[in-house]
Amino acid sequence: MVYNQLIGEQQKLNWVPGVWNRVFIKHRFILWLDIQGRLQTREKLHKIGVSQEDVCCICGLQTETHDHLMFNCIYSQILLAKVLIWLGFNYRLRTLPQWLMWIQRSYKGLRTRKQVLLIVITAVGYQIWRTRNQALWDQVVYDVDKIFKAVQFIVKYRL
Ligand SMILES: [Zn+2]
Repeated sequence: MVYNQLIGEQQKLNWVPGVWNRVFIKHRFILWLDIQGRLQTREKLHKIGVSQEDVCCICGLQTETHDHLMFNCIYSQILLAKVLIWLGFNYRLRTLPQWLMWIQRSYKGLRTRKQVLLIVITAVGYQIWRTRNQALWDQVVYDVDKIFKAVQFIVKYRL
């Protein structure tokens, strides 16, 4: 599977010890769950009767599915676009699986750009899930600029 291959490539980058390594493992784990369709989105919780609502915790506009959170939600779109533009990449509206397929197809010989994009997608995906959980449990949605700065910090550190 494409994603497992990509995770393998990212694994080689993991030279950072201790706490940072654990942070990146968490990032990849969230993305892996998303790819497998195993994040407990509100759509899923609603279907099994755990949640009364199925609307996205962040934007409150659409059903909270995997594809919505990553990255069709307006909040996710703005965040991902900001990060990609900051790094000189073009932004396109794509879901997480579409991004991973696209990265794999487009950057065959360009390992560095591919790795940067993987770091970005992984960091943004993780922050989106975190933002969603904060919205669900603490009823607070942080300003997208605050989350953008958090992603910048992670990306800078990894590069
Ligand atoms: Zn949303």
